[in-house]
Amino acid sequence: MTEKLQQINQAPDPHQNERDLQDKEIQNTLGRIKHKILVMSGKGGVGKSTVAVNLALNLADKGYKVGLMDVDLHGPSVPRILGLEATFPGGDKPRPIPYSPYLAVISIEPLLPDKDKSVIWRGPLKIGVIRQFIADIEWDELDYLIIDSPPGTGDEPLTVAQTISDAHALLVTTPQELAVADVRKSLDFCRQVNMPILGVVENMSGMTCPHCGEKIEFLMSGGGLKMAKNFGVTFLGQIPFDPQIVQASENGKTFMKPYKEMTDAVLARIEI
Ligand code: ADP
Repeated sequence: MTEKLQQINQAPDPHQNERDLQDKEIQNTLGRIKHKILVMSGKGGVGKSTVAVNLALNLADKGYKVGLMDVDLHGPSVPRILGLEATFPGGDKPRPIPYSPYLAVISIEPLLPDKDKSVIWRGPLKIGVIRQFIADIEWDELDYLIIDSPPGTGDEPLTVAQTISDAHALLVTTPQELAVADVRKSLDFCRQVNMPILGVVENMSGMTCPHCGEKIEFLMSGGGLKMAKNFGVTFLGQIPFDPQIVQASENGKTFMKPYKEMTDAVLARIEI
C-alpha cells in the first residue's frame, strides 16, 4: 500500500507543463505591476469592497495607473459599486474593463449568465480562476493592483498570498469588538503566510447627526485603532458612516472624498 502511494506521488503530473507555463505568465504579469494590495476583512458587510474601490479611484485620481481585481467569486460587488456594465474587450488575450484612462477592472460578474443566481465554486476551481485573472488577462504596466478579497481567510486570500508573493494586506474593520475579533484572525493569517501588513482601516466609525451636527458613536469608535496599537500595525485612518457612501454605491456613482486621507496614509507606507 505504502509502495503504491509512493508510486502515485512520484508519477509525473500530466498538467505540470500547463502549470509551469501559467506560472511563467503570472510572473510576467506581476513583473509589470509595482505594488499589489490585498484588501481583507474578518466579516462581510464592514465596507471592504467600498474601501478597495475608493482606494483604487483615489490612486487613479492622483495619476497612478491602477488595476482593480475582484476575487470575490461568490459575491462580486466591484462592478456594481462602480456602475460598470461593460464586458471584457477582446483581442488575442482579454483585457480588463477600462473604467477611466487610469483605472481598469477585472471581476467574474460580467461573465456570469445570471447575476442573481448563486454559483457553486469548489476550492480548486476558485484557485484556477484567480490564477487566470492574472495569467490570461492582458494587464498593462501598473503602479498599483488593488485586490478585493471575500471576507475571511479562505481559498481566495490564500491563493493571492501563494501567487503574489509581494502582496501587502490592508485590513478593514468596523469599530465594535465583534468585528475587530474577526479581523485579528486576518492579522494572524497574514503572519502565517508571511504577507506584510500595510495597516488597518476603521470603517463606519461614528456618524455626524444630520440634524444637530453632533457625532453619534453607534458602533462605538476606536476599536480598529486600539487593535492596531495592540498588534503593532499601522493605523491608516477612520472613515465615518456617511449615507452619501451608500447612495453613491447604490447608484454606481463615486464618492471618493471620505477615502482621501486613507489613500494618503497608504501612499506614505508604500513609496512608488
Ligand atoms: P463588504 O465588502 O465588507 O461586504 P461593502 O463594501 O459591500 O462591504 O459595504 C456594505 C454596505 O455598507 C454597502 O451598502 C456600502 O455602501 C455600505 N458602506 C460601506 N462603507 C460605508 C460607510 N463608511 N458609510 C456608510 N455606508 C457604508
